[in-house]
This record gives sequence, C-alpha cells and structure tokens, in this order.
Amino acid sequence: MAKHRVALIPGDGIGPEVAAATRVVLDAVDVGIEWLERPAGEGALATHGALLPDETLDTIRDCRVAIKGPITTPVGTGFRSVNVALRLGLDLFAAVRPARSLPGVPTRFEDVDLVVVRENTEDLYQGIEFERGSEQAAALREELRDIAGEEIRPDAGVTLKPISLTGAHRIVHFAFEYARSHRRKRVTVGHKANVMRFSDGIFLEAAIEEASHFGDIAWDEIQIDHLSSRLARKPEEFDVLLLPNLYGDIISDLCAGLVGGLGLIPGANIGWEYAVFEPVHGSAPDIAGQQKANPVAMILSGALLLRHLGEIEAAENVEWGVDETLRKGEIRTADLGGTATTMAFAEAIAAEAVAWEHGPS
Ligand code: NAD
Repeated sequence: MAKHRVALIPGDGIGPEVAAATRVVLDAVDVGIEWLERPAGEGALATHGALLPDETLDTIRDCRVAIKGPITTPVGTGFRSVNVALRLGLDLFAAVRPARSLPGVPTRFEDVDLVVVRENTEDLYQGIEFERGSEQAAALREELRDIAGEEIRPDAGVTLKPISLTGAHRIVHFAFEYARSHRRKRVTVGHKANVMRFSDGIFLEAAIEEASHFGDIAWDEIQIDHLSSRLARKPEEFDVLLLPNLYGDIISDLCAGLVGGLGLIPGANIGWEYAVFEPVHGSAPDIAGQQKANPVAMILSGALLLRHLGEIEAAENVEWGVDETLRKGEIRTADLGGTATTMAFAEAIAAEAVAWEHGPS
C-alpha cells in the first residue's frame, strides 16, 4: 500500500510538462507516493465546465496535500483565479518561497539564501472589487462620501485592501516559527505602514507583538520601497522576508530574478489543515508544449512536499540531484543556456538524486 496519497494537478500551459518531469524525479526517490491526478484550469473548464471542479477540491481535502502546476487565469472573463480560490477555499494562509543561489547558474549575486513568507488570503488579493460604472461602485462612492467625507471619481474601479489582526497574527507567528524550525536567524517585515496606517499598520502591529515571544530570532521592519532597493543591491543581507499578500507576490518574483529566473523557484502554500506545493512561475504560454520549460521550480516544490511529508532524506536527495545536475552543467534547458528538453533535464536530476547516498555535509 502507498505510504502517501498526493493530489497532482498538472495545470495549464507548461504545467503538464513540468508536472510529468517532477513525477519522474519523485518516483525515482521512491517514498511510496500514490498520485491522484485531478484537473484544474483551462483544460478543466473545457472538460468539467469549471476551472476548479469539486472533485479536484475534494481530492485535495482527502489527501491533505497536493502539488500543482501553474494555471492560466482567463483575463476579463469574470472567472476568479483558481489559485486565489484554492488559497481561500483551503485557507492556505502562508506562502513560502525559498530563493537561494544555485550552483552553475551565474547571476549578479552568489550568496543569496532567503525565504519569502507571504500572507496568502487577505490584502488587495482577497478579491473584493467594485467594477467601474456598476451599481455597487456607485453605492460605495455614496457610502464613502457619507462616512468618510471622501470623494472618488465616478469612473473609478475599486479594489479593497483588508488586513485583519487575526490574519496578520497567524502569518507573523508562522514566519517566526518557520525561522526557528529552519534555523534561520532574522525575520524582516516589509510594509508601508506610514501610508496605509490601518492595513499595513495592523500587519506591523502584529509583528511587534509576536516578535516579543521569539527572543531567539532577530527581527527588523522596513518600508517596502526601501526593501526593494536593498534587495537589488545586497540581497545576501536578508534571511526570512515576511510580507503582506501583494508585496509578497511581487518581491518573490524579484527574488526569483536574483537567483536565475522564474524556472528555479519553488513554493508552498500552507494552512493548518492542507498544503499545496507549486512553482512560483506561471503557465508560460509562449513556450508551452515545446519541452522547453525548466522543471526545476516544480521539482524543488516536490522536495518541499517531501519535507512536509516527513521524507527529509528523500527531499535532500532531490535537492542534491538538482544542484549536482546544475553544477555539472551538461544537461539544462534553454532558459539556462542549454538545449535539453524538460524531460531529459528531469531524468538527469532523477539519476543524480538516486545516485547520492549520504546527507549533505
Ligand atoms: P509566466 O511565469 O508564465 O512567464 C513569464 C516568463 O517566464 C515567460 O517568458 C516564460 O516563458 C518564462 N518562464 C516561466 N516559467 C518558466 C519555466 N519553468 N521555464 C522556462 N521559462 C519560464 O508569467 P506570465 O506570462 O505573466 O503568466 C502566464 C499565465 O500564467 C497567466 O495566465 C497567469 O495568470 C498565470 N500564472 C499562474 C500562476 C500559478 O498558477 N501559480 C502564477 C503566475 C502566473
């Protein structure tokens, strides 16, 4: 009998290619995973009439863990993003995105090793929007005039930015616990609390309160614009970055750029009950179906999944397999200057992962 049951959602665009590649590597390290493949995204809309079919959500709830490829968000169709629906529906309140310099991937900086912890359920991403010209937008304008004496233009659309003390406390607590359990030394909280006093202000307030319970972890706070500038100059100075939702989304892509690109950064979405692992990149329609996609981001997301399942040695094997293949540099995809296919790259990583027998020094 399989030891672990994991929902596998290949997704759209390059998703099925990087998902198949990831499966090859995770099957090679052989921890006894039963894969339950389920649809989501554009393909699911065509076959099941829904971007996120109930059976997919049920399977994730049943397995409690899932790994997913990227999903194309239809623009201007009124559909809510599947990713946002998953994060809210399963209350996956913490996004964890490690970015570290990888061997054999030349970048401006050689010693980046940081983790972005992003709040995943609130802020401008919660999806509370009022469409320009709608009755609701008009009602909101009137209400704002009445209660706050504020005028917004009649042709404005509005997106709300709620940040609650409850939501802020749990993500701050999570980030400090994460720092402690992963032997990280410092948490840096990014915000714009001087301008958004009642949303980012709450985030900062929660950070100040929670930090007092974690005397062993250093922490500091920094305005998000200043953080961006410092990351571009000295990213090696940062350890754990804790950010509200939208800033976390932007800064984690920036960090991907610092270590060699979107094809390399894994991610985890974690809640109290469920966890969904996924690469940071999107469905890359420009290279979909061509076996050009770099599978490393999703394979490393698979390593995070293995750690979550308690399969630490297997996770280390996978990470070693990625590092060693990159270090040797013979087999790599086009984004890293190579010519290998997605699957050839994954097979090389699987071979290195399996060959490695001892823990890293
Ligand atoms: P993207 O990440 O798909 O692509 C940006 C650029 O990076 C493209 O040039 C692409 O070819 C390249 N790239 C991305 N991943 C790569 C990989 N693994 N290997 C090699 N090159 C890679 O971002 P986008 O173009 O802004 O978005 C495309 C679609 O993906 C949109 O519909 C967006 O909504 C969706 N998206 C989904 C997720 C998700 O499901 N988690 C995340 C981001 C974007």
